Amino acid sequence: MTNIRIGMGYDVHRLDDDLPLILGGVDIECKKGIVAHSDGDIVLHALSDALLGAAGLGDIGHFFPDTDAKNKNLDSSFILIDVLEKLKQLSYCIVNLDITIVLEKPKLQPHIHSIKESLSNILHLSTNFINIKATTSEGMGFVGKNNGIACYSVVLIEKE
Ligand code: MG
Repeated sequence: MTNIRIGMGYDVHRLDDDLPLILGGVDIECKKGIVAHSDGDIVLHALSDALLGAAGLGDIGHFFPDTDAKNKNLDSSFILIDVLEKLKQLSYCIVNLDITIVLEKPKLQPHIHSIKESLSNILHLSTNFINIKATTSEGMGFVGKNNGIACYSVVLIEKE
């Protein structure tokens, strides 16, 4: 029986004027931000879902429903830390992770380093094992029209 497992996570949110844009714990200056029940940190949501998926534990909607008032404006790092704790209880640790953020603007390249550092701090994982990519939707669809943002995450976990 193998000790490694893979998981993927996907999240999408609407964008609107004068809201915070927090990606991987980094507050990014932007005219538009994420519409959400929590702080809307789509990177942490996609990553948490990937980790739960890898461990066979379902999804964050099950543990943190957006119908629950106590999750209003929730700092999403609490979600990720809670998920990490669930994995730890099953003796899983992260091998590496890869994240793709799909956003039309602003260009995220100047923020990639900060997002990696932030994830490294939350996860207690070296940046060598964290990869963040950003792409646009080439002007097509809801992301392309700058009405939304999407994020994909893949993680590999290993039983210690
Ligand atoms: Mg979300």
